[in-house]
Amino acid sequence: MGMSDCNHDCESCQQDCSERSFIAPMNMNSNIKKVIGVVSGKGGVGKSSITSLLAVLKSREGKKVAVLDGDITGPSIPKIFGVEDFQVFSDGTEIYPANTANDIQIMSTNLLLENKDDPVVWRGPILAGTVKQFWSDVHWGDIDYMFVDMPPGTGDVPLTVFQSLPLDGIVIVTSPQELVSMIVGKAVKMAKQMDIPILGIVENMSYVICPDCQKKIYVFGKSHVDEAAKEYGLKVLGKIPLDSTFVSMSDKGLIEEFDNDWLEDFSKEIESI
Ligand code: ADP
Repeated sequence: MGMSDCNHDCESCQQDCSERSFIAPMNMNSNIKKVIGVVSGKGGVGKSSITSLLAVLKSREGKKVAVLDGDITGPSIPKIFGVEDFQVFSDGTEIYPANTANDIQIMSTNLLLENKDDPVVWRGPILAGTVKQFWSDVHWGDIDYMFVDMPPGTGDVPLTVFQSLPLDGIVIVTSPQELVSMIVGKAVKMAKQMDIPILGIVENMSYVICPDCQKKIYVFGKSHVDEAAKEYGLKVLGKIPLDSTFVSMSDKGLIEEFDNDWLEDFSKEIESI
């Protein structure tokens, strides 16, 4: 069954598809034009960091940007944007997202927890349901680009999130320590099932730049991302170095002030999807 004629609006779509019932309705006071999911094979490879970088780049281009933190059990987006103390407001029917210094809209479980250190120990269906609620119940307003920090891995929870949001494309984040080919293969399968285009792969923590001679040092050995990309006919969107300024700015919640050109070309290409 193909979903090529899917218009991402189950109310008006004429496609006879089994996914129909899954896709959550967009919040009625929101108009979100493009939704891009960022996925990874496991936690800790920099999925949230790359999601944030992309959001900042798009925002610098003058676009209205939102980040939906779908990484429910490891929500790090609010901290990276310095809005972790923001008190999310609800009028009883809708939830209003946090607003960053540069007007990026953010929603995350961490903004709902009374105590930010509380672990989120919910079961799979609740996790996936929370992401759906972030899509349907949050008053996002007019958004040009929403980036979704997807739950890590290729298990049940990310699959349900894949099925419930009308993603226009996904970006795969890998790191050189991983079995890249296997991870990319799984992500490709998942995306194919849902007929969602894969925009490409970002290799994070790819190398370190020697502060003295500026040479690239491949601390994790030879990268396999080019081979994996070739195997699956995908594009490598960027290779991001291990960078201490990137970490410290993220830790301080100052990602919007972090200057880099790592993904600038890709950010411009997103226009055409
Ligand atoms: P994930 O979302 O995949 O779990 P994060 O984006 O939270 O991963 O990154 C995990 C940790 O690694 C964070 O402390 C982050 O600041 C750090 N990190 C991510 N990318 C880089 C990088 N390119 N250089 C240095 N540290 C990084």
